[in-house]
Amino acid sequence: MNKTLEIISRVRREGRKALLETEAKAVCMEYQIPVTTFKLAKSEEEAVGLAEEIGFPVVLKIVSPDIIHKSDAGGVKVNLKNVEEVRSAYGKILENAEKYNAAARIVGVLVQEMAPQSTEVIVGAVKDPQFGQTLMFGLGGIFVELLKDVTFRVAPITREDAEEMIRKVKAYPLLRGYRNTPAADVNAIVDVLLNTSRLVMDYPEIKELDLNPVMAYEKGAKTVDARIILE
Ligand code: ADP
Ligand code: MG
Repeated sequence: MNKTLEIISRVRREGRKALLETEAKAVCMEYQIPVTTFKLAKSEEEAVGLAEEIGFPVVLKIVSPDIIHKSDAGGVKVNLKNVEEVRSAYGKILENAEKYNAAARIVGVLVQEMAPQSTEVIVGAVKDPQFGQTLMFGLGGIFVELLKDVTFRVAPITREDAEEMIRKVKAYPLLRGYRNTPAADVNAIVDVLLNTSRLVMDYPEIKELDLNPVMAYEKGAKTVDARIILE
């Protein structure tokens, strides 16, 4: 059995709808969608060891089936530059999770490489009751949330569709390079869209998918957070 099917079956068996970030990113990896390096720590000592292995700076994040929006729960600490910062963030994250929801089941704390800042884009998919799997693209932050500057295409999409989805957002000039922002690797984003299209076509039981944010670099792109919700 392939990895994605294995993960989806386990999530179902456990009576869950949402994949953990670790599970969603493992699925992404199987579909050649680039993600930040990540390892799960079950103790502070382990988190320190993994941070040293991955290399500073790192990011620590709560992993819990009961915490879907991790930053809302104080469950994300970025740019941790040394062992002391990792130790203190580890304790703080667990403390915040407890405060947020004392009943939350804690799987562990994820240690990730810190992806360098860049232009953030969002790739999403929703299962429309009428059109089926539908892909979404936009730029991160205010562009999607405030200005609703997004494009949609019904899956499966072609390379031309993906290119058009990117070109048609109003914020597109930012991806072409603007003042201090270098041009982004649009082909890398096209590949993320195409691979996401393949994924949601292969698994019609995916109800929602959210790669938010994906860092768009001069060369390549990297998914920093991935959410997948099943029907
Ligand atoms: P959630 O959306 O569940 O609150 P995220 O994983 O998206 O949590 O983390 C919140 C924010 O922290 C992200 O939008 C991003 O700006 C930053 N962030 C998270 N992980 C990383 C990472 N590995 N490298 C760089 N920035 C990160
Ligand atoms: Mg996020």
